[in-house]
Amino acid sequence: MTNPLFSFRLTHLLVIALTLLPTSQAQAQWQTISEHVEFLQQPTKLRFYDSNQTLIKGDHCALMFDASGNFSAVEATIEHLKQTLNIPLCYLVASHFHDDHLLGMAVLQHYYPNAKLITHDQLAAEYPRFQQAFNDKLDSYEQSIELSFQRLAEQPKDKQSAWRDKLELAKTRLLRWRAYSLQPPEITVSDTLTLDLGNYPITINAYQAHTDADLMLYAEQNTILVGGDIVDYLPYPGHGNLSKWRELLSQLNHSTSAQIILPGHGAKLSNNELKQPLAFLTAIQQHVTANPEQDLTQLQQSFDQRFAKQYITDEISQKAYVMFLQAGLKRAKQSK
Ligand SMILES: [Zn+2]
Repeated sequence: MTNPLFSFRLTHLLVIALTLLPTSQAQAQWQTISEHVEFLQQPTKLRFYDSNQTLIKGDHCALMFDASGNFSAVEATIEHLKQTLNIPLCYLVASHFHDDHLLGMAVLQHYYPNAKLITHDQLAAEYPRFQQAFNDKLDSYEQSIELSFQRLAEQPKDKQSAWRDKLELAKTRLLRWRAYSLQPPEITVSDTLTLDLGNYPITINAYQAHTDADLMLYAEQNTILVGGDIVDYLPYPGHGNLSKWRELLSQLNHSTSAQIILPGHGAKLSNNELKQPLAFLTAIQQHVTANPEQDLTQLQQSFDQRFAKQYITDEISQKAYVMFLQAGLKRAKQSK
């Protein structure tokens, strides 16, 4: 299978720009959710392109939920862990297969070889293709670096040496990352898994929603839900099981237990705010069902404008909204 998110996730240029940025500029901020839960939210500019991460700490073990698709950012996270964690990192959880949640696990696994990777059972079955995706991503970095070297001469003379230094640094990083590889999961979940992080129990459940193999994690007597892309405010529906996803969001929306919801992209939410992604996914499915004669372009044009008004707040959300809607309509039409 190709890597369908690549075209809209990080473009080559953005990838190289991120790789070259000093980490302080590209870095996300850690937020304290509770004594045991830290949330790393991506900066606004990257909110649709790279994932949030959650660190959960019990008395004896820590767990990292998801990894950034930007390997420099994963290395910055590792720095944070080395400086602040006084317990071992025992578990890594990949919420689903998309690049910006899974591929950075290779970097974490290199620095924490004893941490056990947890994935959905079905994701584990397809694991070799993700190692290929990791290699493909490094190949695209390499091409971007080569291209940038070739274009160096087009840069203003006084900027060339600074650019050359940045590109050399990018090359060094690339060489380092080439030595890493994605190690297969040691624990898989097909239904539900309970773990004790040391006087701190958590539950990981398997779903079919945003993809066919999603995981969500519940902590603090189910009051905190680490939901990955299932609970994104503007969800990417291109690989979703839209009917099951809507059912799940509806349950979560009506649930009184989860008070704090940590999504894969964007800021933390309340369960009441899940009305928005639920309404968006419902509108997509209903629009496709109601207009079987329309092609994708027509469906997109005739789609309820209310959502564009709600979702589009800047240039980045404009781009993401158009792409996500298109992917959702296509998915809903295919699933008919
Ligand atoms: Zn995703």
